Amino acid sequence: MGAIPSNPSSQPDDPSMNRHLRALVSLQAFLSAPLLASLPAPAIVPVSTAVRAQEPATRLVILGTGTPIADPDRFGPSVAVVVGEESYLVDAGAGVVRRAAAAARNGIAALAASNLKRVFITHLHTDHTVGLPDLMFTPWQNGRAEPLEVYGPPGALRMTTNIEEAWVEDIHMRLFGLEGRTAHNYRAVTTEIEAGTVYDDGNVRVDAIPVAHTSWPVAFGYRFVTPDRTIVISGDARPSPSLVEACNGCDVLVHEVYSRDFFDRHRNQTYHAAAHTSTAEVAALAMEARPGLLVLYHQLYRSATDEDLIREVREAGYTGRVVSAADLDVY
Ligand SMILES: [Zn+2]
Ligand SMILES: [Zn+2]
Repeated sequence: MGAIPSNPSSQPDDPSMNRHLRALVSLQAFLSAPLLASLPAPAIVPVSTAVRAQEPATRLVILGTGTPIADPDRFGPSVAVVVGEESYLVDAGAGVVRRAAAAARNGIAALAASNLKRVFITHLHTDHTVGLPDLMFTPWQNGRAEPLEVYGPPGALRMTTNIEEAWVEDIHMRLFGLEGRTAHNYRAVTTEIEAGTVYDDGNVRVDAIPVAHTSWPVAFGYRFVTPDRTIVISGDARPSPSLVEACNGCDVLVHEVYSRDFFDRHRNQTYHAAAHTSTAEVAALAMEARPGLLVLYHQLYRSATDEDLIREVREAGYTGRVVSAADLDVY
């Protein structure tokens, strides 16, 4: 989907924008592509709008970029790595199944509800897990032929067990009422993981990367190694050297971020410094990690815009390719 910001301050006639940025925004409007801020590097066109021959076999689909703030344009945090017919989800934010269905409607069949088979949970904060019941039950009713595989930190098993228990009346009605379902594919097969390789199906390897996020005893980012790409996803993290090491020249680094404006205006700066990563910090981290593309997600804006985030990253010295993601972007 296009992601030209609707905030008037970000429009091309804003005098505070420099000439290059105005030209770039005009180009974006022409392309109907997400915010590109790759000066001086070449513009980045999401693969969904690129010519087919340039599409990598592995696609990164941003299902939700949101936060606990109930922004109707940004669903809860969730991204998908799609390799051929298979999808590998990271986190289950609010609305995850409907966002995946929208991506399927855009041509990515691996994200149809019936194909949502596995999810890797970064940590157990509600904004990253409130979509888990959706991910367990809705695909069941849409014909998923197997239970959901859930990989996550300690506590994940208790969470999925309690979700099954919470909906026991619904499960009973669907199995033994007039609906007459027989398969138990609402179930979650949950694996509580430790850092290291947690999944390998011969096509895709998934490594759990320990990250620091307030006082959570265990929180993960994930690295996906596919036949043609290496993608690292931060989850929620303050600057974590483990992510630099995990990326180390990777193709795509998807990293959470907060704006300078958000931080300056927020009451609890101590929490946010311990929990999350600023634009300046993500710039410093990316300079070390050297991704082919830095994708900002789970953005805490306050009044900042996507352009502001990119400008702050640039001002902190990062010159590589960087975009600020919107829901349903494909890279
Ligand atoms: Zn969190
Ligand atoms: Zn979060």
